[in-house]
Amino acid sequence: MSERFTGTFTQQEPIPEDAVEAALAVLRHGRLHRYNVVAGEIAETALLEEEFAAFTGARYCLAVASGGYAIATALRAAGVTPGDSVLTNTFTLAPVPGAIAAVGGTPVFVGVTEQLTIDLDDLAAKAGQAGYLLLSHMRGHICDMDRLMEICDGAGIKVIEDCAHTMGAAWNGTPSGRHGVAAAYSTQTYKHMNSGEGGFLVTDDEELAARATILSGSYMLYGRHRAAPGPEVFERVKYDTPNISGRMDNLRAAILRPQLKTLHDQVARWNERYGVLEAGLRGTPGLTVIERPAAETYVGSSIQVLLLDWAAEAILDVVARCAARGVELKWFGAPEPVAFTSRYDSWRYAPSAPMPPSDRVLAGILDMRVPLTFSLEDCALIARIIREEVSTVYGNGA
Ligand SMILES: *Cc1c(COP(=O)(O)O)cnc(C)c1O
Repeated sequence: MSERFTGTFTQQEPIPEDAVEAALAVLRHGRLHRYNVVAGEIAETALLEEEFAAFTGARYCLAVASGGYAIATALRAAGVTPGDSVLTNTFTLAPVPGAIAAVGGTPVFVGVTEQLTIDLDDLAAKAGQAGYLLLSHMRGHICDMDRLMEICDGAGIKVIEDCAHTMGAAWNGTPSGRHGVAAAYSTQTYKHMNSGEGGFLVTDDEELAARATILSGSYMLYGRHRAAPGPEVFERVKYDTPNISGRMDNLRAAILRPQLKTLHDQVARWNERYGVLEAGLRGTPGLTVIERPAAETYVGSSIQVLLLDWAAEAILDVVARCAARGVELKWFGAPEPVAFTSRYDSWRYAPSAPMPPSDRVLAGILDMRVPLTFSLEDCALIARIIREEVSTVYGNGA
């Protein structure tokens, strides 16, 4: 009898009890709107922003309704206007080109390497085509940020970081999100903190922070923000910044504050699971493990492997065999978008030229979530199942 995994790849841990208590307190007083405070009260949302700013080391932080909203707001506040081209990753998820489209920009896709990071040679070649780079640290893989910043600074490109998968990660000790002019994070259920929906924007740029705050729907109540610049900065931008509502509320902030306190421990738990999976998969014939650079501090909340140069039917066979044993793998090579997974050529509102070297990598990527509800034994079992099925199909001549 072959082993079978019976866990659920979409089941995150419950909201911690102290966060439930904090949420109940907000529900009991009823002041869910972030600007609804009584005399002397500081809103949960404002406190969370201060705490998240401290966590990343950024001067300013704005809590918003989603990660995608944070990205679009960062782009708009950084100066992207309709018709502007924005460089971005070929290997990413739909909200990334979607955020560029939301501000009327045109994505210009930059290729992906076998390390699953942005192709810096391709970036250097395309640097003259846009004034902005929306850098997606897709699935938590961080490129050589020193070289990336050298290229972008040299070409006068403003970098906005999508840190949906790198909250808690770092490059050479610098927290992810602290290289560019602004960064966006998500607190959607499948990310590193869970408030259902939610996001953050961080920056050190005072005007960008003030514009983003007004964009998010602060009306003229920006004085109630704490991780924000002073009123004189808002005075400079308040008449020509539109209100495009996308605030976070106190209920979500109350749920997130206790989670932020334990994020470092959660990262360690993710990485234990990642380590077991990686060790179990390493050395499988036909399968390439993604080696993580020493400079990268990552969060192993998902794992990717490559079946490079395999025939599509053979990869589909692996996916089906693993699924039959309870292991859900996502394939980035599918011609049609499926569930959360799609490719740059499915985003037809953003025309792209074919990118054969990237297509080769995308066609080989298998991707798997690692929820913290999995035990280390679960991870060892999952790795055994993948290893057996990949070996079998490879042995049959993939
Ligand atoms: C989830 C995600 C986002 C957007 O986050 P939402 O909160 O769902 O809007 C952006 N980029 C990447 C890579 C993501 O995975």
